[in-house]
Amino acid sequence: MSRKHIIIGNWKMYKNMEDTKIFLNQFSKLIKGKVIKCDYGIAASYTNLPVLKLNQFHNLIIAAQNCHYEPEGAFTGEVSIKMLKDINVSHVVIGHSERRMYFTETNEAINKKLHALFNANMIPVLCCGESDSEYEAKKTNDIIKNQILLALAGIKSQHVTKLIIAYEPIWAIGTGKTASAVEAQTVCKMIRDYITELYDENTAQKVRIQYGGSVKPENIKSFLEQPDIDGALVGGASLQAESFLGLLV
Ligand code: PEP
Repeated sequence: MSRKHIIIGNWKMYKNMEDTKIFLNQFSKLIKGKVIKCDYGIAASYTNLPVLKLNQFHNLIIAAQNCHYEPEGAFTGEVSIKMLKDINVSHVVIGHSERRMYFTETNEAINKKLHALFNANMIPVLCCGESDSEYEAKKTNDIIKNQILLALAGIKSQHVTKLIIAYEPIWAIGTGKTASAVEAQTVCKMIRDYITELYDENTAQKVRIQYGGSVKPENIKSFLEQPDIDGALVGGASLQAESFLGLLV
């Protein structure tokens, strides 16, 4: 089955509104006349999302980096899915390793967010990945299967077909180290096989699986050539307009 590649820039806690406008201005000039075959988008901080909406040009997916699973309530500092929908956000990154690590985001909360997003017709980008020590101890498959099993508890196959999974080995995020394309392919294939086991082959073939971890314009092709890698989640190299465009191969 052919799956359309999807590249998402994760801006983390970088750029203010003015920086975002400058990026969009540069990017819109650079992209003019180019034929882009993949889906592409940017996951920005909440305050930048309205700027992306106002300056939105053709096809740019607007993604948030988090959301709350409750529709509303006394949750100071949180943002609901309805609030995100108001400003054209269609995708939300869930369970990024930085959120799991620094904000104690649990698999249980991730599962609740996935349910809430699918119920609102939004698309989650579910991140999973092993730490350096887990990688060294050859625990990658067990760690990832457990993250996926808990994240997808109770999620129906019709929703899973819309899911994007980002495999991001933690030791490769922002470090300049990448998994080799073959290594990344092996894990992404393992994820697809596991979705087949949990659901069925048809569902697994529809899920888009990204690789993330120090992806740049210079190495992205080697990942996208792999049969089970359907795109990339990219931090550092998505911050500059020229470099972001270089990822849209
Ligand atoms: C990320 O933020 O998800 C990421 C993969 O970052 P980087 O591309 O900088 O490693």
